[in-house]
Amino acid sequence: MARIYNFNAGPSPMPLPVLEKAQSELLELAGAGMSVMEMSHRSKEFQSIIDEAELGIRRLLGVPEDYAVLFLQGGASLQFAMIPMNLRRPGKSADYVDTGSWANKAIKEAQIGGGATNVIWSGKGNNYSSIPKPEELKFSPEAEYVHICTNETIGGIRWTQFPKTPAPLIADMSSEILSRTIDVRRFGLIYAGAQKNLGPSGIAVVVIRKDLAERASDNVPIFLRYSTHIAEGSLYNTPNTWGIYIIKLICNWMESQGGLQAVQKLGEEKASLLYDTIDSSDFWRSPVEKESRSIMNVVWRLPGEDLEEQFVSQAKKAGFVGLKGHRSVGGIRASIYNAVPLESVEALVSFMKDFEKKNG
Ligand SMILES: *Cc1c(COP(=O)(O)O)cnc(C)c1O
Repeated sequence: MARIYNFNAGPSPMPLPVLEKAQSELLELAGAGMSVMEMSHRSKEFQSIIDEAELGIRRLLGVPEDYAVLFLQGGASLQFAMIPMNLRRPGKSADYVDTGSWANKAIKEAQIGGGATNVIWSGKGNNYSSIPKPEELKFSPEAEYVHICTNETIGGIRWTQFPKTPAPLIADMSSEILSRTIDVRRFGLIYAGAQKNLGPSGIAVVVIRKDLAERASDNVPIFLRYSTHIAEGSLYNTPNTWGIYIIKLICNWMESQGGLQAVQKLGEEKASLLYDTIDSSDFWRSPVEKESRSIMNVVWRLPGEDLEEQFVSQAKKAGFVGLKGHRSVGGIRASIYNAVPLESVEALVSFMKDFEKKNG
């Protein structure tokens, strides 16, 4: 078997034991005599899978009883649209913090149809190299909610501390969910596309304080209302059953690793290895402010785009993939989600040191 060092930004590596477990159950899920993809989403076998997936998320994140955990289709991108549709009542506004590419996509959806969208801070003038300081945020008194992207996957920055907001805080955690402990109570709604830390693509996990789901008016399509999916336990229509099954396996795997705290500790260790290397010489340069550095998506530059291209192509030959920065920003990016083993990061760091010796 030839599994390479995979630093893809999303979809991204899965824990090997999860893939192996899925493989072993592919033809016949214990006792069911069929694959998870062949069973009714209304069967008791599937109900126990979705219950376990939900419980796994609840336990790992510490989700309180008055919050629902939903498995929805359309990825995180559909959430950009569902949030304003459901949570910003007619005639009211919403606050958005513009920290980069993903925050921007959320803002664009919120502006559709002239919806009142206050961009209360933007990092654009600074090349999106940092997260705002608490004193830079002035919330609108009328806002129905405040939206942030807690980890900008492309820019490589994250909110180290979450802001205290007068209105419910809504967070896109796609590229960092389950990478650090959080206090769910500080949020009205948390959402994440699964393909970074949770499972396969095409599914979003939404954690929503249930009372907020009551805001949606009758003009919101039934399928796009959170209240519909809460009432039906994410089984209003046929869900992504395979995706939910894999999320269950991922949660089990995280628990076998010692839970969220242990996974967080390892994640911080992996990030430090890379940042220490980047900081160790002038050959490498981090384009983002130190306090805002992401521990999931580490971005850096070399002295010149030629060298960056050489770095990516030589790394590929040496078995490292996914290191090219996003086309919109260039440079290098290593995505080191939960499933990326420490050994992959150690191997990358040693490749970097060699590369620097030859080219520095
Ligand atoms: C990947 C990503 C998304 C988009 O997820 P889709 O599942 O492709 O819709 C949104 N926000 C962030 C922060 C992401 O990293």
